[in-house]
Amino acid sequence: MTLTIKQIPCLSDNYGYLVHDPKSGETISIDSPDANAILEALKTEGWALTQIWNTHHHFDHAGGNAQLVRETGCAVIAPAGEKGMIPGADRYVGGGDTVSLGAYMARVVDTPGHTLGHICYVFDAQHIVFVGDTVFSMGCGRVFEGTPAQMWDSLTALMALPDETMLYPAHEYTADNARFALTIEPDNADLLARVEAVAALRAAGRPTVPVSLALEKKTNPFLRAGGADAFARIRRQKDTF
Ligand SMILES: [Zn+2]
Repeated sequence: MTLTIKQIPCLSDNYGYLVHDPKSGETISIDSPDANAILEALKTEGWALTQIWNTHHHFDHAGGNAQLVRETGCAVIAPAGEKGMIPGADRYVGGGDTVSLGAYMARVVDTPGHTLGHICYVFDAQHIVFVGDTVFSMGCGRVFEGTPAQMWDSLTALMALPDETMLYPAHEYTADNARFALTIEPDNADLLARVEAVAALRAAGRPTVPVSLALEKKTNPFLRAGGADAFARIRRQKDTF
């Protein structure tokens, strides 16, 4: 038996993720976009929440912490760079730290840019990474607190993961990102194929993520920028798209 991941549509376009280890019986919630939706999913699966792993402090990521702690008694792991900003935090972690779910280990990677303390959780052995608002399919998070150069370094760190790694972003922004990506690379055959696949998924009411790093490297204009300056230019264009 291996890790089971349940994807939960929350709010208007967020995804919550529950990660369950059948052996230990532990279940973690990646962020807490909507406590009621997460509690409902736990009930459906018959899982008990043991931990929340937060990626950053925004309300649609940590806003459900207090209720989940109150109703389940779960522990909260939060980014070291956002002390005091994450409700219920019990432990703060940063780049190089490891966190565990039963016998499974995840590595914390610092990915500042969207917020200054943003972190991602990498299950290296399983080729899974929870990327929060750092990268989306064919897109990336807005650079609210950090600099474009910081965000580029964060994306570069994620691109160093093996190609087969599956990215689990926190939002369903793919169709919108696709429209922008096509303005940057209108002749990219991989992008055109992905855009078509995404349209079919959305028409069927299905999520477009998780997505492999390999596919993102072929289709995501932000990952394909090649350097911090070009990245900054594309990010500015997207901000006003
Ligand atoms: Zn955010």
